[in-house]
Amino acid sequence: MIYNEFKGMKLSRLGFGCMRFAMKDDGTVDQDKVDKMFDLAIEGGVNYFDTAYPYLGGLSEGAMAHALKKYPRDSYYLADKFPGHSLPGPVDNIALFNISLNRCNTDYFDFYLLHNVNEWSIKIYESEEYHIIPDILKLKEEGKIRHLGFSFHGGCDLLEEVLTKYEGMFEFVQIQCNYLDWTLQDARRKYDIITSHGLGVWIMEPLRGGKLAALSEENSAKLKQFDADASDASYSFRFLQDLEGIKVILSGMNEVFQVEDNLKSFESRKPLSEEERKVLFEIADSMKNGVPCTACRYCCKGCPMELDIPMLLDCYNNMKFASSLNMSMRLDGLAEDKKPSACIGCGQCTHACPQGIDVPSVLRELDDIYTNGPTWAEAARSRHDAILKDLGK
Ligand code: SF4
Ligand code: SF4
Repeated sequence: MIYNEFKGMKLSRLGFGCMRFAMKDDGTVDQDKVDKMFDLAIEGGVNYFDTAYPYLGGLSEGAMAHALKKYPRDSYYLADKFPGHSLPGPVDNIALFNISLNRCNTDYFDFYLLHNVNEWSIKIYESEEYHIIPDILKLKEEGKIRHLGFSFHGGCDLLEEVLTKYEGMFEFVQIQCNYLDWTLQDARRKYDIITSHGLGVWIMEPLRGGKLAALSEENSAKLKQFDADASDASYSFRFLQDLEGIKVILSGMNEVFQVEDNLKSFESRKPLSEEERKVLFEIADSMKNGVPCTACRYCCKGCPMELDIPMLLDCYNNMKFASSLNMSMRLDGLAEDKKPSACIGCGQCTHACPQGIDVPSVLRELDDIYTNGPTWAEAARSRHDAILKDLGK
């Protein structure tokens, strides 16, 4: 196992993400399988386990605790997340945190994150009424949280803003990064922003929900020419292993063979050759179906509605690749006169765009996807009910 030093700890570079455990037909977690996967992972050197309050409708934390109960608490690191983005309104934050502690059968978290910070949820996290940040800082002072970070699904401007505003408060940021999102979600810039603030980078979705572990036959063949035995997934892990600022790469494993294959990828470092890297980016380009916006912002100056055009196109590209509630949440966070529907179709932006992007048409399509797709408010309703039930309301 490759390990990284972080604040005096030796963290396994492969972390076990607990959001995708195998479930049984009766809706419960397949605990035997989870236990087996954990035993295998621990035997292979994994010492970092990441869960969150809402994962698997609240079942993830308990299943993880069950699988870890035979191991000494100081032999592994536990990460959990505060569900600010899923709250039904202001609640007793400490009581909610204590539910997580109980479910995880522990009295502290080594790592704790504000879950899913983006342009919409930041308003909740910063709201005086919700009182989240002061409560979380109190828990940290009491030693119930050892290291504080946040998982992030917003744009680069917000990331820079949050890290500047809260300099010294957070120690690490978890972002979605892989060789596809390096450009698709601007993960390259996010990586640079986080490391320039001196913080650790944690990675989620290294395989883009499995898409990079099961490439098309054509793309997979391009990788097989380098090594007929290497899995598609191993290239995504090797791409990330080359980035020194990355401390933990979380993989949401739900099958024993995935644990075995992932452990193989993390046995030792094997830097990508220039040729392998080139092919990975070619594969990434072949998978995108959005517009080639470079975020140069030449279009923004002349926009009479002062829209953040590159940010909107970023949402469009992501939504075209795969429908995502995170993108809807980012759009929900915008004022009405900054949403895609505010575009008056004047066409100034298209004239200014060196890529010749037909921005008004793209924004019309984005508005259509956004207004006709599921909203976060609808999706979160069951989470609201679950939180209220957990809190005895
Ligand atoms: S077409 Fe829309 S986005 Fe482009 S400049 Fe005009 S109002 Fe702004
Ligand atoms: S000018 Fe074109 S490429 Fe540049 S930010 Fe605007 S839409 Fe994107």
